[in-house]
Amino acid sequence: MNALRDNLFKITSGLPDGVRIIAVSKTKPLELIREAYEAGQRLFGENRVQEILWKAPELPADIQWHLIGHLQTNKVKQVLPYVSMIHSVDSIRLLETIQKEAAKINRVIPCLLQVHIAMEETKFGFSAEELNSFFEKLNPREYPNIQFAGLMGMASFVDDEDQVRKEFRSLKILFDHIQIVANHNLADFKELSMGMSGDYPIAVSEGSTLVRIGTLLFGIR
Ligand SMILES: *Cc1c(COP(=O)(O)O)cnc(C)c1O
Repeated sequence: MNALRDNLFKITSGLPDGVRIIAVSKTKPLELIREAYEAGQRLFGENRVQEILWKAPELPADIQWHLIGHLQTNKVKQVLPYVSMIHSVDSIRLLETIQKEAAKINRVIPCLLQVHIAMEETKFGFSAEELNSFFEKLNPREYPNIQFAGLMGMASFVDDEDQVRKEFRSLKILFDHIQIVANHNLADFKELSMGMSGDYPIAVSEGSTLVRIGTLLFGIR
């Protein structure tokens, strides 16, 4: 019996088509990541640059690493060669740095813009207003090495399901709105990264396409 494989299967079988799991392996050893890999998992999420830098070279090359935590501009250059998506783009300055560094290595980086939807003050991210005005003015040709792939958000850490649902719903509404505003030039704007171990069923029912699951797969940290 393999608990990790069972957990993965249980979560996957409850997800609608088109919703993918990011296995959040932060703080977890290579051995557990390999186990998930052998069970078929290919998308892994880390929230710290250093952890991707040491883990990625030790593990199979077809793992897709998603950076899900706050990224400092001075670490962009180091991490870009390893990431297949950044979920946590939370400022224009960061976006510009990613553009500049991605151009140097001739890559196009799929990026999700992080939106602040929770009640807590400490979370990073844009407000809905900021993003609306950003996308209204956006000329994607100014960011040839960025693929605007969608949005990411984290709901409040509360037991109140209605509150959590309301926050995910607001993110979905913003996502739909931006798709309409920018549709003609953002063909790849398709991903809505929302939902973690504690709230992913709600996120999925509100339209998530990427759920970021750590604890439910790997156990508590
Ligand atoms: C740690 C983390 C997760 C996963 O959290 P779990 O509750 O363990 O599933 C998801 N998203 C982000 C941004 C994280 O830092």
